[in-house]
Amino acid sequence: MTVTTTKGQDLTVEGLTVHYGGVCAVRNLSLAVPAGDAVGVIGANGAGKTSTLKAVMGLIPRTVGSLRFGSTDLSRVNARQMVRHGIGYVPEGRHVFAGLPVEKNLLLGAYARKWNADTRATLAEVYELFPVLGEMSGRLAGALSGGQQQMLAIGRALMSRPRLLLLDEPSMGLSPKLVEDILAVLQRLRAEGLSLLLVEQNAKLTFEATSRCLVVENGEVAMTGTSEQLRHDPQVRRIYLGL
Ligand code: ATP
Repeated sequence: MTVTTTKGQDLTVEGLTVHYGGVCAVRNLSLAVPAGDAVGVIGANGAGKTSTLKAVMGLIPRTVGSLRFGSTDLSRVNARQMVRHGIGYVPEGRHVFAGLPVEKNLLLGAYARKWNADTRATLAEVYELFPVLGEMSGRLAGALSGGQQQMLAIGRALMSRPRLLLLDEPSMGLSPKLVEDILAVLQRLRAEGLSLLLVEQNAKLTFEATSRCLVVENGEVAMTGTSEQLRHDPQVRRIYLGL
């Protein structure tokens, strides 16, 4: 499976700030996802992880000093254009179209690109990555289990042939076994050369899926480091791994 189309590019975000009315949810946050790398953002409930991801994707109003994907300035680009620039988004809570068949859900993921023979080929690749989606292609998405819906949400994002995938808490509400399945999918996508920006409350999964991480507290970066360093940090172990 080769969901990536062209050589990857680095994502760099500098000075990202998000306000909801008078509430500052993200303050002057900077991060980078080197091409082909996987970077994690961990933090407690309400730390600002979802807001960070939505703001990068252009889904909510934000101010940003600099937002670049390779040499392209994306600081004024909306979510639909972000998809055209090769950035895919898997929302928190999956948000599949429950009343539509699995295959229709997947094809909607290709909306930002022109329909062509490539779309069929990409669909075949997604079915190869997630055989269960192929087996259930005619079933309504609402009839799928939580784990299958998460696979569908990832597959739908892959239909736009992204070079970078933003994932918001893909492990949410899933059993430990299904979290392992998600980890295997993320590792496979990474091995294919896709860059990943993974936002999670599940620090254990994030450390295994990524090479670098940011710890976000109250909308600000509290710590950064390699995932290996952070998983051994006493404070991180206590707060985020419950050890
Ligand atoms: P979770 O793990 O629960 O998804 P999070 O780390 O993703 O949390 P955010 O959802 O980004 O955190 O929320 C950051 C802060 O912004 C919180 O204080 C939250 O209450 C606030 N917030 C989020 N969305 C809104 C909104 N639409 N209107 C007002 N405040 C919001």
